[in-house]
Amino acid sequence: MWRARKKRLPVLTELDKRGIDLHSVRCPLCDGDIETVDHSIVVCKHALDIWCKVFSWWGRGGVPYVNIEDLALDTGQATSFVGKIIWQAVIWSCSYLIWKNRNQKVFSNKCWNAPTALNEIQVKTFEWIVKRCKAKAID
Ligand SMILES: [Zn+2]
Repeated sequence: MWRARKKRLPVLTELDKRGIDLHSVRCPLCDGDIETVDHSIVVCKHALDIWCKVFSWWGRGGVPYVNIEDLALDTGQATSFVGKIIWQAVIWSCSYLIWKNRNQKVFSNKCWNAPTALNEIQVKTFEWIVKRCKAKAID
């Protein structure tokens, strides 16, 4: 997430800025726009499908963001400190898995199984919270 917020993920437009000769800078997943960090992680139709599932899981409406910075700063409408931290873990793990999925498609031509994506996000979020939390028992 830190790299994404600093625009340090090696998306095609960033590689192009560094002088790497590319055939195209269009999104390799949807070909609907140029591939920026914001496009790849937030607004690509493949990412947006996942974000919609995540926001629905949390009982929220549509995804109101078009860039990674606003998404990263979202507190999930949580009223408690713990709720905000958990929502942040969800956002970060989802962003990580979207980026991982993008790379699997680009480098191995493997597609993310969208129906199981939400479950994978839930498991990854739980694993990260358990490993980072100081509480002894987390359900
Ligand atoms: Zn795209």
